[in-house]
This record gives sequence, structure tokens and C-alpha cells, in this order.
Amino acid sequence: MRIAVLSDIHGNLPALEAVLAAVTPYDAVWQLGDVVGYGPQPDEVVARLAAEHALGVRGNHDSAAIGQLDTDSFNDDARTALEWTAARIAPQTRDWLGALPLRSVDEPFTLVHGSPRDPTWEYVYSASIARANLTAFTTRHCLVGHTHIPLVLRQRGARMEGIRVTDGQTYALGEDRLFINPGSVGQPRDGDPRASAMILDTDAQRLEWRRVEYPVAQVQHLMAQSDLPQRLITRLEFGL
Ligand code: ZN
Repeated sequence: MRIAVLSDIHGNLPALEAVLAAVTPYDAVWQLGDVVGYGPQPDEVVARLAAEHALGVRGNHDSAAIGQLDTDSFNDDARTALEWTAARIAPQTRDWLGALPLRSVDEPFTLVHGSPRDPTWEYVYSASIARANLTAFTTRHCLVGHTHIPLVLRQRGARMEGIRVTDGQTYALGEDRLFINPGSVGQPRDGDPRASAMILDTDAQRLEWRRVEYPVAQVQHLMAQSDLPQRLITRLEFGL
């Protein structure tokens, strides 16, 4: 099976369409949360994922957009975009987001948005945080999003090692326990504005990261039309 693993799409339909086209053919789509928030097309993104029968989990932005998390915990721009999202989304989008679990398991993978011990808020970006989360899931590997940074953290004996991953990079799955982050489709934050995605090949036991160009200006135009915060519009150009 070739599985497209996507995270933090954030209402960015052109970025989602671009990564799906780039990783075709694929047999399944897994998504790691933050389907909505920040971006201008939450309904369209959810409809596309629903059509793909995507397996996935709910992120902090998704929970806030459906009123299951207080928007006070977000910064001003994120909160403004969430209030816009909450007021705009269709009932079927709300239902789809509400039906997402916080954690999903498909052996040997656990899927969460943040971390296994705190799927809503914790960022798995360091060896120490990864190590502290090893006892919070029972599968060999854990797929995470939330940081918007493509990354592997692997356990080697008593050590945890972080490996930053770039376009075209592959990683062979083995005995090591891993935290695996595909990066963000809709709002990359590692200085590369291209949409990030990962392919999980279960036959070859291999991961591959991809960076994909998409029409950033088209998304920025839609965001401006919707009066979304300027800082959120500008950051897409820089991947920050
Ligand atoms: Zn996010």
C-alpha cells in the first residue's frame, strides 16, 4: 500500500490538490489534524478529504472551529481565523470534523495531531519531549503533526535522535521506535514555502518526503477577499 500521509492542511485547497497530484498513485490518505484554521477553504478541503475516505485525527484548530476548544488559547491571528472558520463552515463540515477521533491506530502506527500524551496541544519537536512520550503509545511508530516541521525522531537504545528531512528524502522503517512528522501541507514553517507531504510505502517499508509547489498567490488572494489577517497571508510566501 502507498499511503499519502498529510498534516496541517489548514483550509488550503490548492496546496492539498497539489500534493495529492504529486503523490499519485496512492491507495489511501491519512491526515494528522488541523484540516481547517488559517486557510480560506475549509469546506472544500473537508469535502476533498471525505471523498478520499481519509483516515485521520482531529487537531487543536479543528476542535476550536467546532466549539470543542476555547479560542482564548490561540494567538490573535489564529483566533481571528478560527472565528471566521467557525462562522463559515457548513453543517456537514462541522459533523465531519466532530466525528474525528483524537487518536487512531493502524498497526504499527499511532496517529495523533500533537503528541500521544497530549494530542491537542503538545509539540513533539525535541528528543526530550519524544522520550517522555514513548510510554504514551503502544505501537512501534507514532505519526504526529502540529509543529509544521518535517522530522523523524528515533529511539536508539537510551538515546533519541532527531533527523530533519527534506524533499526527496527517504527513510527505511526498521526496529527503531519512531516519531514521524510529514510536515505541513497548507502552512509550512521550515523556511520552504512548498507544501510538504509524505508517502508511506507499507510494502517497501519506506517513508518518502516530498515538497510540492502550489499557487500561493491564489490562496493569498482568497484570504485577502475573506479579510483574514495579513500576517497569515504573508507567511505563506516564506514558509514561516
Ligand atoms: Zn497546525
